[in-house]
Formats: sequence, structure tokens, C-alpha cells
Amino acid sequence: MAVTILAVLFLFLLTAVAFAGTKLLGRAGKNQENDSSRKCSLCLRPFEESRMITRQVGDYRLFHFCRDCVLSLYSDLGLRN
Ligand SMILES: [Zn+2]
Repeated sequence: MAVTILAVLFLFLLTAVAFAGTKLLGRAGKNQENDSSRKCSLCLRPFEESRMITRQVGDYRLFHFCRDCVLSLYSDLGLRN
């Protein structure tokens, strides 16, 4: 009985790993297709990457900010000080 449960768990793990792998590959392909367009991390509107500010947080997370959001943040800071 325990062996069956372990076998099922192992199969489930294999399926999950395979699924995650194909998802990662798909995402990489999509990025190459449409390389210059990025979504703003705040307003989620798509912009050309060259027109956005990019900041890395931690080891891998990238944030892109559009001009409107940066100006909005700047004016919020100005109002506070
Ligand atoms: Zn934005």
C-alpha cells in the first residue's frame, strides 16, 4: 500500500515537473517573439521597453515602470514633502 502511494506521488511529481518545464519553454519562446514590449508593473499597460524604467528587485524579479506611473509616483512624493 505504501509503495503504491509512493509510486502515485512520484508520477504526480514527474507530471508537475514536465508541466512546469513546458510552461517555462513556452514563456521563453513568447519573450523572444515580442521582445521590445513590456507591461508596466503598476498600471499593466504594454509599452516599448526602451520607453520604460526597469528595476531589478532581488535576484531575478524585474519591474518595468512607464512614464505616467513614474510621474505619478514623483508627484505623490512631492505632495508629501
Ligand atoms: Zn504604468
